Amino acid sequence: GSVLDGLTAQPSDPLLALIGLFRDDPRTTKIDMGVGVYRDAGGKTPVMAAVKAAEGVLLKDQQTKSYLGPEGDARFAELLTPIIFGEIDRARLCGVQTPGGTGALRLGAELLARGRAGTRVLVGTPTWPNHVPLMEAAGLQIVPFKHFDVATQTLCFEETLAAINAATPGDVILLHGCCHNPTGADYTVDQWNTIAPLIAERGLLPFVDLAYQGLGNGLDADAAGLRAVVAHNPEVLVAYSCDKNFGLYRERVGALFVVSDRAAVIQSNLLALARANWSMPPDHGAAIVRTILDSPELTASWRAELDAMRLRILSVREGVAACDPAIGLTKQTGMFSMLPLNAEQIRTLREVHAVYMAGSGRINVAGLTPDAIPAFAAAVAAVR
Ligand code: PLP
Repeated sequence: GSVLDGLTAQPSDPLLALIGLFRDDPRTTKIDMGVGVYRDAGGKTPVMAAVKAAEGVLLKDQQTKSYLGPEGDARFAELLTPIIFGEIDRARLCGVQTPGGTGALRLGAELLARGRAGTRVLVGTPTWPNHVPLMEAAGLQIVPFKHFDVATQTLCFEETLAAINAATPGDVILLHGCCHNPTGADYTVDQWNTIAPLIAERGLLPFVDLAYQGLGNGLDADAAGLRAVVAHNPEVLVAYSCDKNFGLYRERVGALFVVSDRAAVIQSNLLALARANWSMPPDHGAAIVRTILDSPELTASWRAELDAMRLRILSVREGVAACDPAIGLTKQTGMFSMLPLNAEQIRTLREVHAVYMAGSGRINVAGLTPDAIPAFAAAVAAVR
């Protein structure tokens, strides 16, 4: 028999099934809060103006498509550095371009596994579903702790502290830098300032996943937690995605950064791991980001459009709260919240009210156009 005979069919992504159901729903009032991409007030996921302009520049000026190297576009990573870290000692920082935030997470996970096989990773739950298989596939061991209580809609800070205190020195802790996916429940600045030194004190290695910078409280505010972690800890891994804040999703743009006294050694390992995985990352998306960040005009345009996106998300949250404060969306940050609804209520929302959301109760608030807000609030009230 074939080696492949041992394989069994795998479940498909439930979110993809939801996309199909939504597409085939003939009701014109249907509302899609399932898919995790930004939508504007017209329900579109547009190409940002700065991205279009940068693509024009690349089309005109790009002279070669020759290989770059396993580090990808080094200027891209360099230009992102101040946006992410603010002031930082560049001698203690290394980084490579990756295929999206997912590639950055995978590369970081493989770096950790290469450092020590079977390394344990503390992960607050619920989390982005791909975190778990991704870390496990790299050979890491997941140690879950409770991040958010859906029923009471509260961030479990005591549980977070207890997990850090119970960890073994050398364990890794995975943290969402901002706009927690799927709950929208972020640490406050005070909470970051509590856990950042505690992580150092306990000898843990922080791995920050920053996938939505600029979509929460603004570019600097969304990096404040990460910067507190960097200020207190000798080593930090950062998985960064440009796919949401530049609207580049399918171009797969991200970077992995590592802050360490051994930056040169770590960089050489990142290059070796990248070479063994994807050899080198795809260029186009990072070239767009580099072109934008190398131009003051395009950077200003990008920042303004990103801020408008952020404010629209905020206005949806406030709009829902104005209709029904009990839904409580103003307590969370970014595109996602997780509603305390059971499977039956979620199915009724879909079948009776044409409101689509993930089976977990996660909603993408950017899925609401302004005129759909009252219908959504009424539908949730009706099933509650
Ligand atoms: N991390 C989190 C928390 C995410 O929500 C996502 C995407 O949904 C990613 C990482 C991966 O982003 P990318 O599309 O850049 O791979």
